[in-house]
Amino acid sequence: MTLKRRTFDTVVIGAGGGGLRAALQLANENVRVAVVSKVFPTRSHTVAAQGGINAALGNVMEDDWRWHMYDTIKGSDWLGDQDAIEYMCRSAYKLVTELEHSGVPFSRLEDGTIYQRPFGGQSQNYGGEQAARTCAAADRTGHAILHSLYQQNLAQQTHFFDEYFALDLLRDDGGRVVGVLVLEIATGEPLLLDAKTVLLATGGAGQIFKTTTNAMINTGDGMAMVLRAGIPLQDMEFFQFHPTGIAGKGMLLSEGARGEGGYLINGDGERFMERYAPSAKDLASRDVVSRAIFLEVEAGRGCGPDRDHVLLKVDHLGEEVVKKRLPAIRDLAITFSHRDMAKEPVPVYPTAHYTMGGIPTNRFGEVLGQDGEVNAPVPGLFAVGECACVSVHGANRLGGNSLLDIVVFGRAAGNRILQYHHDQKHRSAIPEQAINKALSRFQQQGSGGGGEKESVSQLRNELKETMERYCGVYRSEDVLQQGVEKIRSIRERVGNVVVHDQSKIFNTALIEMLELENLADVALATVVSAAARQESRGAHSRTDYPERDDENWLAHSLFSLDGELQYKKVNMNPLTEPAVPPKARVY
Ligand SMILES: Cc1cc2nc3c(=O)[nH]c(=O)nc-3n(C[C@H](O)[C@H](O)[C@H](O)COP(=O)(O)OP(=O)(O)OC[C@H]3O[C@@H](n4cnc5c(N)ncnc54)[C@H](O)[C@@H]3O)c2cc1C
Repeated sequence: MTLKRRTFDTVVIGAGGGGLRAALQLANENVRVAVVSKVFPTRSHTVAAQGGINAALGNVMEDDWRWHMYDTIKGSDWLGDQDAIEYMCRSAYKLVTELEHSGVPFSRLEDGTIYQRPFGGQSQNYGGEQAARTCAAADRTGHAILHSLYQQNLAQQTHFFDEYFALDLLRDDGGRVVGVLVLEIATGEPLLLDAKTVLLATGGAGQIFKTTTNAMINTGDGMAMVLRAGIPLQDMEFFQFHPTGIAGKGMLLSEGARGEGGYLINGDGERFMERYAPSAKDLASRDVVSRAIFLEVEAGRGCGPDRDHVLLKVDHLGEEVVKKRLPAIRDLAITFSHRDMAKEPVPVYPTAHYTMGGIPTNRFGEVLGQDGEVNAPVPGLFAVGECACVSVHGANRLGGNSLLDIVVFGRAAGNRILQYHHDQKHRSAIPEQAINKALSRFQQQGSGGGGEKESVSQLRNELKETMERYCGVYRSEDVLQQGVEKIRSIRERVGNVVVHDQSKIFNTALIEMLELENLADVALATVVSAAARQESRGAHSRTDYPERDDENWLAHSLFSLDGELQYKKVNMNPLTEPAVPPKARVY
């Protein structure tokens, strides 16, 4: 059988907001760009983003992008790179205005300008009063942005490979990325995509945890592809737990609910966030609120017969406000919690939400890590969005900053790819050896190893439960070490999985197998990096090392599949603004 082959200038893997914004930048310049997505593009997880996108427009109250920059650095617990953070916050006005002009139906104020709601960690004047910086299309902001970007790409003739699964990156002998092997899910046939440049925009990896806000498709595929290509992952120990998932289920009730004036109460009816964050209260940073809920429940002050959750209350805002500003999350709560938020509080508990770590890049979207050099770009390879680590979110992401991240760096990566094509006119051939290696890895999937036969769903559940139990909101040395051992053993057992369904056509069992392999690599990166970091910073809370330790740990971690962990410096040099030096982080 001959391997089918198609040739493009750029192949983008992922049709979420990050991939589509980059593709649009390229298609506008007549680059032959293909977008590969394992689901129909508008089903990408960006569609689920509820609360909004940050930009210091100052429509509701005075604002300044420099205050946004300060808040983002503080939110990141000083692990974010300040050059990238400045670039993002400075560009926000332009990018959000561009979305408005391209038809995103933002909610409006009386005077016709974009409505902005307060979100966690936002302040005026470098840590002063609460700011209102999050631009929202009711609570369906991601949906509006994704559909708009998809339509614009269709108009610009971007080529879409819908329901194709990316398997492996292909590199030439000089380490240059020259293509990617994908699987056509409908037929089960592999397809070779030959490209001058490949951009990864495969989203997050929330499926490594049992309780998560993430879609089933968020399995960290791009991150695992990078690891297999010999490139490290950065800051994987930092995983955001969102404070308000529907208790026991995990679906997200947006921070917008608290932004609109909602608050949390414990089993004693107390508004407990006042004790943990006296000034920001319920709008403290997400890591702070998640820990507070966890501690309230641990102390026996939870709600319900098992005292295992707290309540999110918005009914005091009145039915009209809830229906107008929070219609989609009200529906979610009715469906999954059987409660109408407009009438009564809803049980909530922290849930795995956002992958702060990922593929190391600079602010141009270039992937870093050629031949073990921490800051050398891998020629031909780019990454943006939740799969990437720029790093603008550092140890903790602020709500509303991810939708901003994907459009800002999607555009920036598109521009850098244009420049790369300009500088590198030559297209190198994909070595046969690289193709054969990727093909044989794919062909062996699910054939079972020498050991005891395993099932995908059982191993996947075991992995997710292990991560939740051994690498959750609070962590400690012995628990993490047990987690490392368990994940290592699960990862080995993945080789014994047998996919009984041998059909080629729409073989979802095979896709689940491929995803499980990726999940295992990403879970290992997460738990190993977490066990190594002996401090508490942002979302990484160690009971045995409760303090932040700038002297020893103000550094990004780099995890490789076959090597030791490496560390690299945080960029403390903004582009034009003065640096924001580390200080205590209080809300
Ligand atoms: C419920 C929820 C609510 C959120 N709300 C907000 C919010 O209000 N504000 C905010 O700023 N952020 C929010 N976030 C975070 C934000 O939405 C995401 O971080 C962001 O949308 C990710 O965009 P992306 O383009 O990186 O990836 P995604 O939108 O996740 O897209 C990933 C793409 O990669 C493709 N893909 C993955 N693997 C493969 C493969 N192997 N082969 C082919 N294709 C592949 C998928 O098909 C998909 O097209 C929210 C997240 C969740 C889960």
